[in-house]
Amino acid sequence: MNNEYEDICSVCHRTESVAGKMLKMSDSLCICIDCLQKSTDMLNQSPYKDMLGMDPATLAGMFPGMGGVNPNESPTGIKENKTEEEATIIKEAGEDEPEKKEEKKDDKPKGPATPHGTFFLNLNDLMGGNINPRTKIKKRNPDEKKEPIIKLKDIPAPHKLKAKLDEYVIGQEEAKKILSVAVYNHYKRVATDTMDEIEIEKSNILMLGPTGCGKTYIVQTLAKLLDVPLAIADATALTEAGYIGDDIESVVSKLLAAADNDVDKAECGIIFVDEIDKLAKKPNTNHRDVSGESVQQGMLKLLEGAEIEVPVGATSKNAMVPMTTVNTRNILFICGGAFPDMEEIIKARLTKQAGIGFNSELKDKYDKDKKLLHKVTTEDIKKYGMIPEFVGRLPIICPLDSLDEDALVDILKEPKNAILKQYQKLLELDEVKLIFDDSALRAIAKKAIKKDTGARALRAIIEEFMLDIMYEIPKDENIGTVTITGDYIEGKGGPIVEMRV
Ligand code: ADP
Repeated sequence: MNNEYEDICSVCHRTESVAGKMLKMSDSLCICIDCLQKSTDMLNQSPYKDMLGMDPATLAGMFPGMGGVNPNESPTGIKENKTEEEATIIKEAGEDEPEKKEEKKDDKPKGPATPHGTFFLNLNDLMGGNINPRTKIKKRNPDEKKEPIIKLKDIPAPHKLKAKLDEYVIGQEEAKKILSVAVYNHYKRVATDTMDEIEIEKSNILMLGPTGCGKTYIVQTLAKLLDVPLAIADATALTEAGYIGDDIESVVSKLLAAADNDVDKAECGIIFVDEIDKLAKKPNTNHRDVSGESVQQGMLKLLEGAEIEVPVGATSKNAMVPMTTVNTRNILFICGGAFPDMEEIIKARLTKQAGIGFNSELKDKYDKDKKLLHKVTTEDIKKYGMIPEFVGRLPIICPLDSLDEDALVDILKEPKNAILKQYQKLLELDEVKLIFDDSALRAIAKKAIKKDTGARALRAIIEEFMLDIMYEIPKDENIGTVTITGDYIEGKGGPIVEMRV
């Protein structure tokens, strides 16, 4: 087994870091001290207990067939119906069953022989060969002075982070600024651990913005820029432990998988929990709310920082999955949600604050305010149904704007990997120039706004129109340029096709 990876107990499936030192029986068979102790205790209570501790010569005298060091001479076999603990040490006397002795002569066990003629059963053989490499965990040596994964000098300053984000994300200026500073501070804290006596508090982030406005996209881009592992989880799939759905701690398992099972790397990763608004407390419910408020409760210790025992290579704990411990102290949690109707709560608060008398006038003013979400406070979020302890652990609030027509047009053509650029590159391979004129871009943006799913609608709309073009163009080698017009998008005409000269 590779030295870089932790050993896993073949009986209880815990890892070296959880279960302690292992007794290694073969490359793929290890047993932890606890399981070994349990096996000995069981044997102590079994009919063979007197044999434990007997010297090999006496044992050989009791079972002449088993005594030889050479396993070829002994009629040993593997006893069936054993529990895994018992199966590690297997013996069988052959003296009083002469016929059986004959039968088993050629049936040599595969495991390594011990001096008493006993054999270790290689559990790995039973599992059909290899242990799943996905469940291997990188080894950690607590004594070794480890290099910090993130070095202070490698963390880009907030203005550099924002400049990089600008290349990919259109608009959302305030959100990009807030996130750049928050992420920079978080990793400064991780890189230095503490600063003198003053411990920098963990700064988890709450992002609020309509669907498709770029919440996930900004976080993905940041994680890529910083080269840290990222796990994206959906809050609606989470339930309190023991109920149908994913355990809350499964989000940490996902991060561990994203970090190639390297616990050190995972411990300074980012976890993005989407749809967090769906966990809001439901008013006036009498039944137990296993997927809403209790998930908020369950997330508290993760957000704050705790040692979490997580399954490796699976999202739920069970006896067959190895476990390891991950500390969430340095994991940055970013929660995102659309929080529909939040504007109403903000409006109600602002109108109330402004006093009585001008209500209708003020209501008009706030109705037109496109940036109302930027006025959100923790009070509003609590009113929405998030529990105070939860809101308290997400000290940074980051509101995002909904995308208007101009922003959508920019998203089509400006980012480094803009959708238009991708299609242009595809057609370039056929030596065809693809042009979208301005009216086409506007028409696509208008259609997307109608769908009300933000920038997410753009790709679907373009794909619909590009299908015919990509089907027809390779038919005729003389086509040199294709121009997509607004009329084509609105169904009033076709694209303008120009032949090569
Ligand atoms: P949500 O806010 O619901 O998490 P996403 O971040 O998943 O939305 O956005 C969906 C897709 O739309 C992204 O993959 C990205 O390509 C595009 N997109 C959304 N917002 C922007 C933006 N501001 N700039 C560039 N692309 C964006």
